[in-house]
Amino acid sequence: MTGEQDHLGEMLTRLKLTAIRDQLDGLLDEAAKRDLTLRETVGLLCEREIARKDERRIEMALSIAKFPFVRDLAGFDFKAQPSLDPKQIRELATGRFIANGETVLLLGPPGVGKSHLAVALGRATILAGYTVLFIQATTLVAALAKAHADGRLDDKLAQLAKPKLLIVDELGYLPFEPNAAHLFFQLVARRYERGSLLITSNRAIGEWGIVFGDPVVATAILDRLLHHSHVVTIRGDSYRLREKRRSGLLKTALPAPGEALAAT
Ligand code: ADP
Ligand code: MG
Repeated sequence: MTGEQDHLGEMLTRLKLTAIRDQLDGLLDEAAKRDLTLRETVGLLCEREIARKDERRIEMALSIAKFPFVRDLAGFDFKAQPSLDPKQIRELATGRFIANGETVLLLGPPGVGKSHLAVALGRATILAGYTVLFIQATTLVAALAKAHADGRLDDKLAQLAKPKLLIVDELGYLPFEPNAAHLFFQLVARRYERGSLLITSNRAIGEWGIVFGDPVVATAILDRLLHHSHVVTIRGDSYRLREKRRSGLLKTALPAPGEALAAT
């Protein structure tokens, strides 16, 4: 009997049915207890195997995505952010925009939840089956510039074109060098209609010429980004400051810019 069991175990290993292999006795007991037919039993085994494979894929995809922190949509307080349409965000969370190769721009002042939503949407689209990479705009530009200097730009662009969704956070906090704008353009062109981009920025679209330091390249970039896009503009003041104000740590009046920085 043990020989037979070993042989079955080996076959399940070879077929990579590791959940069935590891839980076989328990699953067969369960099938007997529930009086399942043979066909239903095969169904139960497949279900468990698929559940394990999904779990592994999600775990792996979350670690590859390199999110800087854990946030999800359940933890986002839509009531605190009336400028957002929860329906639009839930629609984005299905990942359909990725299937359609569309771009998402999350725009708004600091502290209104852009990065929170970017991470939450990234997680949601991983659950929906997509691959995601999260990167800070400054890190991205530095990596492109280094690859360019090392003569490996094409490899880097190919690597950055792989994830179905590339999330670029905090575009515009620092202005680009002229060459950086051109490198970013190449990335956008490479991904154009092949995968999606989700970009967060504290700058309105009209200011992107300044961000990129080159109005011609900025126009070329925006032309592609805005072609099939969802522009989500978040208004209002910083969530962190609002929470502090509510708990009495800050005066109700708007703080001076220096104070706002110190408080964050
Ligand atoms: P931004 O990227 O726009 O500067 P963040 O996403 O970093 O802002 O938000 C700042 C902090 O406030 C984060 O910890 C975030 O989770 C939290 N936050 C912002 N808006 C909300 C909200 N509507 N509901 C819950 N938490 C929020
Ligand atoms: Mg942010």
